[in-house]
Amino acid sequence: MGYKFLKLASPTFSSGSLVRIATSQYATTHDADLVVIGSGPGGYVAAIKAAQLGMKVVSVEKDPTLGGTCLNVGCMPSKALLHNSHLYHMAKHDFKQSGIETGEVTFDFKKMMEYKANAVKGLTGGIAMLFQKNKVNLVKGVGTMVAPNKVEVHGEKGVETVNTKNILIASGSEVTPFPGVTFDEKQMITSTGALSLESVPKKMLVIGAGVIGLELGSVYQSLGADVTAIEFLTSIGGVGIDGEVAKTLQKILSKQGMKFKLGTKVLGVKKEGSTIKVDVEAAKGGNKEVLDCDVVLISIGRRPYTKGLGLDKVGIALDDRGRIPVNNKFQTTVPGIYAIGDVIHGPMLAHKAEDEGIVCVEGIKGMPVHFNYDAIPSVIYTSPEVGWVGKTEEDLKKEGSAYKVGKFPFLANSSAKTNGETEGFVKVLSDKTTDVILGTHIIGPGGGELINEAVLAQEYGAAAEDVASVCHAHPTCAEALREANLAAYSGKPINF
Ligand SMILES: Cc1cc2nc3c(=O)[nH]c(=O)nc-3n(C[C@H](O)[C@H](O)[C@H](O)COP(=O)(O)OP(=O)(O)OC[C@H]3O[C@@H](n4cnc5c(N)ncnc54)[C@H](O)[C@@H]3O)c2cc1C
Repeated sequence: MGYKFLKLASPTFSSGSLVRIATSQYATTHDADLVVIGSGPGGYVAAIKAAQLGMKVVSVEKDPTLGGTCLNVGCMPSKALLHNSHLYHMAKHDFKQSGIETGEVTFDFKKMMEYKANAVKGLTGGIAMLFQKNKVNLVKGVGTMVAPNKVEVHGEKGVETVNTKNILIASGSEVTPFPGVTFDEKQMITSTGALSLESVPKKMLVIGAGVIGLELGSVYQSLGADVTAIEFLTSIGGVGIDGEVAKTLQKILSKQGMKFKLGTKVLGVKKEGSTIKVDVEAAKGGNKEVLDCDVVLISIGRRPYTKGLGLDKVGIALDDRGRIPVNNKFQTTVPGIYAIGDVIHGPMLAHKAEDEGIVCVEGIKGMPVHFNYDAIPSVIYTSPEVGWVGKTEEDLKKEGSAYKVGKFPFLANSSAKTNGETEGFVKVLSDKTTDVILGTHIIGPGGGELINEAVLAQEYGAAAEDVASVCHAHPTCAEALREANLAAYSGKPINF
């Protein structure tokens, strides 16, 4: 292997710095303004935006298809299954009350999975087209930083080198392993396995009643599985959910047939013959029990994915939770290297990764960088959906803030009533003195869409009165959001 000395192109390094680089083993050499490692929602959106801003962009992806966790094994396949299992559930249980007679309703699970696979294929292929349209150069393989201005891509074609002014790490996350469990993705499964089972299990245990566990548990519960969610905490829905919403969601899902074992610690999972045994005990200690099932889904969270990035070669150290530390411009400790998405701090959400990607590359171009972590929505796509943004009542009590609560039930909303979807409510929390909205929490029909209006209001610092005075189309569920804001502002909704 030979070496030559190159002047570093980065404006962040003094001109004239010399680096020694290997020259002989590389198949191809590109030059770029920005190399984006990872093509998940964070990386692919950042790559397109950077290209639109005039940068020469190389996207590096190790997996066969683009789109990362979100498109391949996350948001999109799970939503395809949630949608279709819900349609089946409605056809079987709800159509009759609307006067629709169907005869016996059955489903073809294989076709449902094919539908999901086609949806994913369309979406991942769509990114490839967007890359072409925006002239983003895709290099397939594992991207490893060998210097602050150099990425090696180890792929099928051998090793390719990209010399670049900037690097953006968007390598995402992976499933957090469970001690002692080897996932076979058939009976002991992660969320990835749950998206590709060959049949609906009779009995399913879900370890972890956070967003992913509840969504995937709901899919199989709707398709007839006996589902029990086991959760260490005493409430469901994961981090950031309002306590009252969590309780309501648990009540509604229980009515649908899902069972819950809260405040319960899983001690071990093992396979005995064709049965999975799960040892549990009360989280506070005491009662021990052995539960059995055909399939156990372990969804206890995700952790940042940093394998193969070459962080040690460029001198980036991880924080105590395995994340890449960045400042408020998404700059790592090494000039010219940035990071966004699941691999850094903050909630692991696709839209958070996307927005960070956009503002990060705008920052590289010298534009202002503004990111408001208080205005990132969260959604649980169960039926009904749950959506929230901003602070919970628990947060406000903890910080001692004086606040007002405006609540409006879907039972009193004309659209929800005519559609027979009356479970749930909208709850708005606003500052007691200024009326500025501090948080909005929705459980009910279309909660995942409705929350976006609340995010807009929160992002622009609106008061509850502002939303209450805006004309809303009738009849829509959004009127419930308006009424909840009216209740927060004046104490008196119109229709309840
Ligand atoms: C079952 C499930 C459901 C979900 N549902 C939702 C939802 O409804 N809404 C939501 O907002 N979020 C959801 N999420 C979370 C969402 O998928 C993630 O927050 C999001 O994908 C993170 O985006 P990212 O770009 O940071 O990383 P990722 O999407 O994880 O993408 C990272 C990419 O980087 C690639 N990569 C990593 N290292 C290298 C390397 N060295 N070289 C080349 N390529 C590399 C990976 O192959 C991957 O393609 C869900 C997740 C799961 C698992």
